[in-house]
Amino acid sequence: MRATVLCFSGLDPSGGAGLQADIEAIGQSGAHAAIACTALTIQNSQQVFGFEATSQTLLLAQANAVVNDLPIRCVKSGMLGTTENIAALAQFLTAHPDFLYVLDPVLVANSGGSLGDQATLVKAFATLIPLATIITPNTVELRALTGIDDLQQATEKLIDMGAKAVLVKGGHEDTPDHIKNTLYIGKDKISETTCPRLEGEYHGSGCSLASFIAGRLAQGDTLPQAVNFAETWLFGVLEHAESPVLGGQKMPKRF
Ligand code: PLP
Repeated sequence: MRATVLCFSGLDPSGGAGLQADIEAIGQSGAHAAIACTALTIQNSQQVFGFEATSQTLLLAQANAVVNDLPIRCVKSGMLGTTENIAALAQFLTAHPDFLYVLDPVLVANSGGSLGDQATLVKAFATLIPLATIITPNTVELRALTGIDDLQQATEKLIDMGAKAVLVKGGHEDTPDHIKNTLYIGKDKISETTCPRLEGEYHGSGCSLASFIAGRLAQGDTLPQAVNFAETWLFGVLEHAESPVLGGQKMPKRF
């Protein structure tokens, strides 16, 4: 059986982000995706209307049902929604120290909608940060997690908070013609990748990138290999993204 990534993520009914993004990206990476669903969100390509989080008990029961059933090599988390779910994931990871872990510190949707109380989530993420193999914040999340505006200093603070590796994604920076992502392992800058900035907004790009990285790590890639492969794959997926209604974010074409 293919190496499996167990995702802790929420359902997005539009299919652009959340657990559907995870399943599709992990499938494309060559691994198998299993899901412990953290929340059911109500949203479309334009806006988030609300969500209902899974209970801690239900979340852990889903994860524990598959943990000895599938060849899980890696855990990936996206939207967690509540501090209770963050605590449940920390408990699960502590019980399974062999699992690699990709932490996508989702705070808000790309459309700007709330996926949980930001201040509460930021505090609770502190318990997950030292457990992660890699953290994949965009620059908004990096600043929120550390309270520091300068990106270099914020990354160093995240490492001081226990992060082993960080991929800083530059999509929210004011660079009109390009996007720069930087990979750190410890405080060492390992790589800096620049790609042309594609026009428009994309729904689920962060979920897709983190999940593809998790899929490649599950199959034995090193961190720089997994990140490089995922960035190349994501660019193609976004280049071919499809536009829904006028004003909606584009849907990555992951197949
Ligand atoms: N997870 C869920 C369930 C979501 O609905 C979203 C955004 O809408 C995200 C994660 C984060 O999405 P993105 O990859 O666009 O940051």
